[in-house]
Amino acid sequence: MSATVNETLIRDVVAEVLGRLGGVSATAPVTTPATAPPAASPACGCPAGKATSSAKAASRGKFGVFADANEACEAAHEAYQQLSDAGVAGRRKVVELIKEICYAKAEEWGRLELAETKIGRLDHKIEKLQGQRGIPGVEFLNPYGLSGDHGITLEEYAPFGVIGAITPSTHSIPTMACNIISMVSAGNAAVFNAHPGAYQCAVTAARYFNQAIRHELGIENLACIVEPPTLESFNAIAKNELVKLLCVTGGPGVVQAAMASGKRAICAGPGNPPVLVDGTSCLDNAAKCIVFGAAYDNNLLCIGEKEVFVLEPHFDKLMAALEKHGAYRLNSSQIETLAKAAFVFPPGQGAGCPHPVVNRDLIGKDPEVLAKAAGVTIPRGTQLLIGETTADHIFVEEEQMMPFLPIVRVKSVAEGVVASKKAEHGYKHSAMIHSHDVSNMTAMGKALETTLFIKNGSCLAGLGAGGEGYSNFSIATTTGEGICNPRTFTRVRRCVMVDKLRIF
Ligand code: NAD
Repeated sequence: MSATVNETLIRDVVAEVLGRLGGVSATAPVTTPATAPPAASPACGCPAGKATSSAKAASRGKFGVFADANEACEAAHEAYQQLSDAGVAGRRKVVELIKEICYAKAEEWGRLELAETKIGRLDHKIEKLQGQRGIPGVEFLNPYGLSGDHGITLEEYAPFGVIGAITPSTHSIPTMACNIISMVSAGNAAVFNAHPGAYQCAVTAARYFNQAIRHELGIENLACIVEPPTLESFNAIAKNELVKLLCVTGGPGVVQAAMASGKRAICAGPGNPPVLVDGTSCLDNAAKCIVFGAAYDNNLLCIGEKEVFVLEPHFDKLMAALEKHGAYRLNSSQIETLAKAAFVFPPGQGAGCPHPVVNRDLIGKDPEVLAKAAGVTIPRGTQLLIGETTADHIFVEEEQMMPFLPIVRVKSVAEGVVASKKAEHGYKHSAMIHSHDVSNMTAMGKALETTLFIKNGSCLAGLGAGGEGYSNFSIATTTGEGICNPRTFTRVRRCVMVDKLRIF
């Protein structure tokens, strides 16, 4: 420890303590970084010299962490201007830093997020952070050029400025990290309001990111976060005139709130992805993919397989293959016992709410926990619980985000497509088919109109894991931008030179 302590670090620590005493609400929870962020060291020639942002911004928050949402927006706006001065090379450097840090801190931060949220699986939390390397960066923004008799026109992808970002409990640090990569690639700064049940780990990561960015580029507060996040801080961000765009990742409530805010919003909303198995493709591969996708992070992924419709003649074979690949089959009375534990109110009876309320104590929990709630003991290493239900079962209709997968027999592909569409609720999020029949694929694709439609793979193939394509944890379904990437966070600006500049 003593080897890393230096004058600047001591100054930073003192400033932070003073900031907390003077500028931060006494009621704000104090979080401690899991490890010390990179110490600002004059010996490396950058931090003291490059830290150019105003003393005003530094006195309000520290390394991007703010108690006041409006102050966070102001500081982010200053950072946006500094990023603009740092040019494309500056953006590229920030993106490299975030990716490197996420890779290096994957295990530590995976543990931190799991300890705070108590949902999901450590191995997958680690993978989600390591996978940030696959998020596209500055290279994604190729301008569009036109050259003709009347000169040259260039359309460029320009930043908005400050973006207000809301992140979910299901992947708090991964969503924040990939949002930063995409938003900063495009030249923006960001202010985050994390989920109240998953914000401490996000604050730790944000503080670390900002300290590293300051260390390398001298830019303060590029990715700000409000601590603690509240509905009031969401409203303040949504109303702040320096915030030009919102990006929300979450369920129906936050999507509705963002759309009602009057600000332009990119909404990565809820899903309830169905899978159709028509028996024309390899059932063993279908089962392997389904178990992998639905068990991933204990089925917390919005793209994860949430219900399966299988043609009747192939039902038994598929069930056996699912069991072979690590699923445990519950009988109907165990399913009903689990349903009673998993949903707090039956439909229509939840205090003015038309939906049943999912029991948060079971969301993202290990299969053993669900099995206990179902009154059964399962073998160690079980990946997923499965069981036969009807198409109108509560487990089919609700996005439950727990490792139980209802399997439904259907008599025809047409019936399976109709049932899939109903279960998907028009979210236009994700759907999967296991088939070698092009007409069946086309029928399902056309009927469901989902943002992601995966054929013969797990849901993760839709994010480039096992399929082609780039990744992101914000999939803008509701507003239609698709899997977020740097271009999602840009304004298109056209520059026209009349009659000149062509080289022939
Ligand atoms: P959630 O909706 O409870 O919370 C998401 C975020 O929105 C949190 O930061 C929360 O504090 C905030 N929020 C919720 N209601 C709000 C309101 N009325 N006003 C302002 N802010 C509000 O969701 P969650 O449990 O954290 O995450 C799971 C949900 O998110 C699922 O529905 C899942 O499908 C969806 N999700 C979607 C994507 C995607 O890319 N489309 C990615 C991850 C999760």
